[in-house]
Amino acid sequence: MNVPVNLLDKPVKQNLLGMTLQDLEVFFTEAGEKAFRASQVMKWLHQMLASDFDEMTNISKHLRETLKQIATIEVPGIVFDQTSTDGTRKWVMQLDGGNKIETVYIPESGRGTLCISSQVGCALDCSFCSTARQGFSRNLTSAEIVAQVWMASRLLNDDSFGKNEQRITNVVLMGMGEPLLNYDNVLKAVTILMEDNAYGLSKRRVTLSTSGVLPKLDLLGEQSEVALAVSLHAVTDEVRDSLVPINQKYPLKELMASCRQYIQNQKAKSHITFEYVMLNGVNDSKQDAIKLVKLLKGIPAKVNLIPFNPFPDSGYDCSPMPVIKNFKDQLMKSGLVATIRKTRGEDIDAACGQLVGKVEDKSRRERKFDQPRYGMN
Ligand code: SAH
Repeated sequence: MNVPVNLLDKPVKQNLLGMTLQDLEVFFTEAGEKAFRASQVMKWLHQMLASDFDEMTNISKHLRETLKQIATIEVPGIVFDQTSTDGTRKWVMQLDGGNKIETVYIPESGRGTLCISSQVGCALDCSFCSTARQGFSRNLTSAEIVAQVWMASRLLNDDSFGKNEQRITNVVLMGMGEPLLNYDNVLKAVTILMEDNAYGLSKRRVTLSTSGVLPKLDLLGEQSEVALAVSLHAVTDEVRDSLVPINQKYPLKELMASCRQYIQNQKAKSHITFEYVMLNGVNDSKQDAIKLVKLLKGIPAKVNLIPFNPFPDSGYDCSPMPVIKNFKDQLMKSGLVATIRKTRGEDIDAACGQLVGKVEDKSRRERKFDQPRYGMN
């Protein structure tokens, strides 16, 4: 094919890993190729996990050469790879300019969940989360989000010697970052994860977790069918303001209204998972449980109680297990489905809120959310 001048003129090569099927169709059509090349190349990229255009043997040599000039398959480097005693595996991946992100694989019987990051660091400053301490550096591109799944698939494949023992059956956007503050790239990435020609994960198996960035949450409900998890963590604005400071901007009443709307927008029957971190003496009383039931009334919901994972100088303690169990029983008595999240990978700092890596803080958040912490002296 003759490469049209406009493509060769593009200053940077495009990383094909971050392109949806539709993007690839436009890309190939603009290059004077047939649109069906998009699905062919997509399969090579995400199903065969090709890292080199020369592996794409059903594509002419000529086109492969052209692709090398105008596109890349760029994946992050691995700077850390550690497996916990419970089988949880954590990778630290190196991006440009010293930026690092973390990705965690959690094997369970019959499923394997990959927890991926959407930003380098996080700007939300939730008071019980260690990622918040690092500040925020930048959004990940769609390619960098998808490349975590690509990389983990490759490394897990290599290690199980083709026995398919360690598969990724579920992906959760619960790593570093607030996915809805990187909306466009995250939407593209989840579209690729659910695309049949790529990872083919069903919409129940890709979960986006958010603290509740409302205008974007409403848009997501209109544009995607990704499963939703909401980091609720408190039942009053007073407590939530101090735990999840974005609540000061989008308070509980509005958050709940958006959750109801999200469910209404879904074509298939679905539910929302509400994450609730158990903090000793802060949000774990019987009254809190009773209020939680009221708050979730009318929303198809599951509550996931997360034992707080401690980190130095957090100022919080995890609720004792009997308190967590009582809280759960209180919810179940009222007909809510509630589970207690098993903490995984603690020995390698891979548990929720423990993903630590140094990033350059560009958020200036202390000016945005200058609030005292709840429950601290
Ligand atoms: N920003 C997104 C996703 C990342 S955090 C969100 O807020 O949902 C993924 C989950 O881990 C969130 O529910 C978060 O509140 C929780 N989490 C953060 N720090 C934690 C900690 N130290 N212990 C337990 N859970 C924590």
